Amino acid sequence: MPLTVRPRRKRSTRIIVTLLCGLLPIIIGTVILHMQAERTLEQSSRQTAEEALRQFDLMLDNTAQSARELLPLAGQTCEDVKLALREQVTRRPFVRSTNLVWDNNLYCSSLFGDFKEAVNPGDYTQGKLWLMNGNPVTPDTALLVYRLSDGRGGALTTLDGYHLSNILRLIGRQTLLLLQVGNNWLSADGKVHQGVLPELPVAQSTLNSAHYAYTVSAGFPEDETWNYMSDEYPPLFSLLIFFGAVSGAIGYIVQNRATSPSHEMLRALEAGEFIPYFQPVVYGDNKRWSGCEVLMRWNHPKEGLVRPDLFIPFAEHSGLIVPMTRSLMQQTAVVLGPLSASFEAPFHIGINITASHCHDLELLEDCREFLAAFAPGSISLVLELTERELIEPTAITHQLFAQLRAMGVKIAIDDFGTGHSSLGYLRTFNVDFLKIDQTFVAMIDKDALSRHILDSIIELSAKLDLGIVAEGVETQVQADYLAAHHVNFLQGYLFGKPMPAADFIDALTHH
Ligand code: C2E
Ligand code: CA
Ligand code: CA
Repeated sequence: MPLTVRPRRKRSTRIIVTLLCGLLPIIIGTVILHMQAERTLEQSSRQTAEEALRQFDLMLDNTAQSARELLPLAGQTCEDVKLALREQVTRRPFVRSTNLVWDNNLYCSSLFGDFKEAVNPGDYTQGKLWLMNGNPVTPDTALLVYRLSDGRGGALTTLDGYHLSNILRLIGRQTLLLLQVGNNWLSADGKVHQGVLPELPVAQSTLNSAHYAYTVSAGFPEDETWNYMSDEYPPLFSLLIFFGAVSGAIGYIVQNRATSPSHEMLRALEAGEFIPYFQPVVYGDNKRWSGCEVLMRWNHPKEGLVRPDLFIPFAEHSGLIVPMTRSLMQQTAVVLGPLSASFEAPFHIGINITASHCHDLELLEDCREFLAAFAPGSISLVLELTERELIEPTAITHQLFAQLRAMGVKIAIDDFGTGHSSLGYLRTFNVDFLKIDQTFVAMIDKDALSRHILDSIIELSAKLDLGIVAEGVETQVQADYLAAHHVNFLQGYLFGKPMPAADFIDALTHH
């Protein structure tokens, strides 16, 4: 049944929407996890830099302490102080060598004793620290020199680069760590480089020592964030994929749920799927065509032609029946209007109207528009109101029916005999025709009681001066019986089934 058939969206659109629903939580979750990983790496890089700073400060404290102790000896002969210089080297764990300077000349060294080498204070950052790539004793081995001077005298104490690169390597296990002094920097492999510190791609953290003239920089190599995520977050990724699957499934189900009947019908109305079929009505005596009844069909794209009793109740319930009827009347006017000049006697056109269509005066405009499409006087518009659904008389309905009458529109009571319309009702709405329900016609050759009811309906209509139409005439016996009882109009498969417009026009022109 068409009202449970659904989907309006194209398959490709549904697949895309489903994928989006599934991917969205995964993408958002991954972005959040990525941010979280970056934060964690930033924290870790900062902590590493702080720890390295603490260690370097400790070592330099040690070196500076020995320089402080030696400085007062500067100026004395090397012979007198060389033991004191060696004592510092032995006692202090991080001191590799000690030297004394007079007038910017290194004149005494813990290693060689008497010595002679010029000292350039400009080599030292802030006059204090110089990161060297080795000296004549140990070339290509990093060395950090601490310089302390006072007047003409000075002390130089050195710290082996081995200790420094050890710190860079051990503290920074997962982290890249660099030590910069002035224009030189040391990497964890113990090499001294010249120039500015390189950028560390991820979570770089650069800290200056509060006590000495050096800088430590910590960070991670490219891709570290993703590596970290794949190491640390597998359970969270599983959770994300689970959410993605659930969300995708929900998206799929929601899309594939049937649309509401009224939604589907509105679509069909806009797509012009409700079309008129025409069934001829003949005169009871000569069986010539007196007119037709317009019957709605739903030309559904998937279900094919759908019978009205399957969808009219939904249409009435949703209120769509009014625009659907209007569309049917417009299509009928387009099909039959051009032929109307050739109609001899006024051609009856029966349109089925629901009670809800009579609650306001809109119907008047629909009928006026309909009539305007035909040659004047060429047709008789008959509105068929089913007896099962009676119209409540109100001021509006009185006005409506009075004006319809003034326009020449006729009223028929459909399915007569199945409901309970009173004589008063027939008068109130100025009924012109009674359409005898097909169940009574079907009983003509079978059931005596039904035949009595049929007879009394025919009698009643004659007394009230109403036209009478018999529906569902399928056999010659029925037709003969009704003709013998002076039933004015007959409708049924015996004379013609409901047919599409083209067939009807064809049959009409040949008739
Ligand atoms: P209805 O107004 O009583 O229409 C007559 C029904 O009897 C039609 O069914 C017609 O096809 C069928 N019929 C005609 N001759 C014979 C016959 O010899 N034997 C049998 N067994 N049936 C015959 P259909 O077209 O399926 O329509 C069913 C009902 O749906 C209609 O009953 C009417 O109440 C409603 N309907 C149809 N079109 C419209 C419409 O445009 N608006 C409204 N509100 N209701 C409509
Ligand atoms: Ca009808
Ligand atoms: Ca009927």
